[in-house]
This record gives sequence, C-alpha cells and structure tokens, in this order.
Amino acid sequence: MYADVLVVGTGIAGLSYAVRLAKKSPDAKIIMISKRDLLESNTKYAQGGIAVVSNFFNDSYEEHVRDTMVASAYTSKEHVVDFVVREGPACVKELIEWGAQFDTKGAALHLGKEGGHSTKRIVHHKDQSGLHIQNALITKARSLDNITFFENHSLVDLITDHHIPHLNKGRCYGAYVISKKDEEIVKITAQLTVLSTGGAGQVYAHTTNPTAATGDGLGAAYRAKVHVENLHFVQFHPTALFPKIDGNTFLISEAIRGAGAILRNHTGEAFMEQYDNRRDLAPRDIVSRAIHTEMKKHSLEHVYLDATQIEKEKLEQEFPTILSNCLKLGIDIAKAYIPVLPAAHYICGGIDVNEHSQSNLTGLYAIGECSHTGLHGANRLASNSLLEALVFAARAAEHSSVTLSNPLLSSDFFEEIPDWKGTENVSNQKTDRIRKLRAALQQIMSLYVGIIKSGESLQKAETELHEIYMATKELYQLNKLTPQLTTLRNLVSVAYLMIKQAQKYPVNKGVYFNEDYV
Ligand SMILES: Cc1cc2nc3c(=O)[nH]c(=O)nc-3n(C[C@H](O)[C@H](O)[C@H](O)COP(=O)(O)OP(=O)(O)OC[C@H]3O[C@@H](n4cnc5c(N)ncnc54)[C@H](O)[C@@H]3O)c2cc1C
Repeated sequence: MYADVLVVGTGIAGLSYAVRLAKKSPDAKIIMISKRDLLESNTKYAQGGIAVVSNFFNDSYEEHVRDTMVASAYTSKEHVVDFVVREGPACVKELIEWGAQFDTKGAALHLGKEGGHSTKRIVHHKDQSGLHIQNALITKARSLDNITFFENHSLVDLITDHHIPHLNKGRCYGAYVISKKDEEIVKITAQLTVLSTGGAGQVYAHTTNPTAATGDGLGAAYRAKVHVENLHFVQFHPTALFPKIDGNTFLISEAIRGAGAILRNHTGEAFMEQYDNRRDLAPRDIVSRAIHTEMKKHSLEHVYLDATQIEKEKLEQEFPTILSNCLKLGIDIAKAYIPVLPAAHYICGGIDVNEHSQSNLTGLYAIGECSHTGLHGANRLASNSLLEALVFAARAAEHSSVTLSNPLLSSDFFEEIPDWKGTENVSNQKTDRIRKLRAALQQIMSLYVGIIKSGESLQKAETELHEIYMATKELYQLNKLTPQLTTLRNLVSVAYLMIKQAQKYPVNKGVYFNEDYV
C-alpha cells in the first residue's frame, strides 16, 4: 500500500492532524491506522477537558504560561509554552467548527478549574470531554474522501534505511503494520509518516490508561534510532478509584476537587494542608506524593475523596460518569467518601520534536502524547495535553502540506522497499507466556520505578527487566510475530528507557522524585 501520509493512531492528535491536512491538501492520500477500533484511545477517557484561555476578563495568556511554568518547576521550554497557549483558542474554535460542543454558561463557555491553574479555564463537555471530542473528530474525518482508515492494524516497525541500506537517504519511508485478524504483516509506504500513538501507562500495574496504551510509537521510534527524551517524567494521577471496574482503573477527575471535593485519610483528616498551602488543588506531583506518604505512614491501601459537600444537583450535572461508575460499586458520592489512590497517568516525555512536530528522522513527525515538545518539562499542568495535541497537530499539518507540495520520492522508489522479513515459523503465539511477562514487567515498574524511586530500586528494576528482555527476545526470534508480541517488545523498550533515563537524572524536579536526593 502507498499513501502520501501514513498516520499511526486515531486519538485527538492523529485525527485533528488528518482533518486539517485533508482539507488543506485535498489531493493528498492519507491512510490512518489504529490498534483497536477508531474510538479506543486515551482521548476517549479524558474527563476534565482542554485548558485554554477563553475568558479574557478573568484570565490571560501570561497567567496560563505562568501556571504551566510553575507546574513544570520551570523546566518547560518557555517559548513553546507561549505559542501553545496563544494558538490554543483558535484550535478549540476550529474543533467547535468541526462539530465538538462544549458546556456553556449563558453565551460563554462554562469553565472548570483544576490543580495548578490560578483560575477557571478548562473547556469541557460534562465529564466526558474526550469521548465527545473523539466522536466529533471521527465523524468529521469520515466525511473527508481522502482519508482511509484501517482499524485493528498495529504498527510493527518504521521503515528506514535499516530495511534498505543501499538507499541510505536517512529518512522514514512508512511502516510495517500487522493486522489483528489474520496477523498478516502489511507494508505501507509513505512520503510522510506521523506517529500519534498516545501514552504508555500500561508499563505500570495501576494506570488510568486503557490496555492499548503501551508506548508502541516510542518503542518503534527507539528501534529506528529516533531521539526519545524525558521518559522518566511519569505523571501519576492522584485520584484513581480504588477497586478496578471490569479490570480497568477508573479516573476520578481533578475537576471534582476543583468543584470542592477534599482528600481525607482513614481518620477523616483533611491531610493536604500539611503538605502544600494550595491543599487539594496543588499540582499533581505534590498531591500524588502526599497520598503516597499518607498511605505508607498509616499502611493504607487507599485514601478517600470527600465530595459530600458538593450539591447533588451539581454532581449530577457536571460529573454524571463519576457518579454512575461509583454507584456501580455501591458508593453514592453525594453521601459517602470515594476510595482513591494514585495511578500512572501521563508520560511527560516522548519522541523529541521541533516546533513543527518533526523528529530527527526526516519524514517522521510525532504528535500528541507520544511526542516530547517541551511544553510539559518535568510535569504537565492538568488538561494541557489535549491542548498540546491540537496545537502541534495543526502545526504538523501545515508543515506537511507545504512539504507535500514538492514530493520528495518517486513512486518507483517505493517499489524497491522489501516486504517484511520475519521468521517463517508458523504462529506459535505463546499467549499465556506473553501475558505473564507483561504482568511481571508491570509489577517491576510499579514496585521500583513508581512515585518515589531510589538508586537501589532503579538498579533492581534494571536487573529484573533484563530477564524479561531476554525472554522477549527469544520469543521474537523463534516465533512468528503477533500483535501481543510486538506490544510486549515495545513495553520492554519503554520500561528500559524509563529506568535508564531515571538513573541519569540528578535532581528532584516536577514528577521525578528520588529519595536518595532528599
Ligand atoms: C483517564 C484519562 C483522563 C484524561 N483527562 C485529560 C483531560 O481532562 N485533559 C487533558 O488535556 N488530558 C487528559 N488526559 C490525557 C489525554 O487524554 C491524552 O494525553 C491525549 O488524549 C492523547 O491523545 P493522543 O492523540 O496523543 O493519543 P491517544 O488518544 O491515546 O490515541 C492513540 C492512538 O494510537 C493508536 N495506537 C497506539 N498504538 C498503536 C499501534 N501500535 N499501531 C496503530 N495504532 C496505535 C491507538 O489505537 C489510538 O488510536 C487524560 C488521560 C486519561 C487516560
């Protein structure tokens, strides 16, 4: 298969990129692939919304920039923060033109407040902002003739000079992709390739991310020698619901603390006052560490979030999903405390990109959560990621459109690219073994590379991960490739990078906390 542009991933980043490019370059043939169905993504689960300046009476670009810099402990790149904050409102306006609807109060947008924000600025659709945005974008993208979708197709590897060394052009030529149904590996060649594969929370045992968030784009980029930075900055969300629902960890949005909910320990004490004068609305790293400390100090499995002082009507109107999911566990949040604990939530680092979202490999862009733009630094400000995805997708689409107006490679050239060469062995999935290795990896990362790390814990993680790496390598060499095996391979690469980058980081900043440095 050939495309002018191959987009790997159909979350907010991939879809908004494709829609903008399809409109800007109607002759460009765009192929989009997604690991599961088009909807399944981190975007689908986003509750709070998009941080963007919209009320200029109570807010300003300067304040949003300052809040972002403060949350990141001044490690964000200020010029990136500045253009993202300033270009955000136009991107949200465009999203509304494409069909997204956000809650309003009179003629203005209704704004939520989240931790680390000095004022109300979160544009949202009840507590299902991501699901709503994702559905609107899918509808819009489906209406455009030059976008073709392949669902249940998973990236295996990027095509680079490694596969065709005699060409030696130092660029990306598309990707090898495996279909879930028949496990066939397909070659998709492209002038431009875009990674928008989202997060990697599944590296941990407790995560708010869905099962498909396994850092596949990061793994493939790393194998292709693309720069991947700052993976040791893993943000833990302070409040995930304690018991899992159907095996998945459900997030209790920060917006509910913005509306007045408070954290309490087992004795009912509102403990956040002891840790930070912003109390329950301190940035996430501070709240997560405070909860972790309380749990350790009193040997607790979880703490509580008390939303009982919020009016029932407000809960019903603004937090219907949280209300109904807690009710599934018999918790009426208007009357009872919600058991919560921190869970891996967001990877602040990723594939290093410039201001057009280009990676160091020519022809390869990265956008959204899998990228490292410099916006988040050592800690992401709440609800800045949907904003980042929109702004960088728009920039990448503009840049791609210009690049495509001068095609770089002829179609004859792409015919020289070989099909995937893997083992000829018949499929011997060893699914059970792969599942066990994945669970063991998640335990190692949660135990040793969690909210609080140490030199010793990182060393233990490295040693134990090495065994999983060797076992995965053997499976890869002896068996036909399956989607499960490619995923495991990526999880191992991402875990390895997280550990190695953590070992090299010399200070406690943002979400990174090593107890040896205290
Ligand atoms: C529970 C939860 C709540 C959140 N709330 C907010 C919020 O309120 N505000 C905010 O700003 N951010 C929030 N975030 C973070 C935000 O949702 C994500 O950072 C953002 O949605 C990422 O968008 P994306 O397009 O980069 O990736 P995703 O939306 O994760 O999309 C990734 C896409 O890549 C595809 N993919 C992955 N691997 C492969 C592969 N191997 N082959 C093919 N396709 C692949 C997936 O199928 C999917 O289509 C939240 C995250 C979670 C998990």
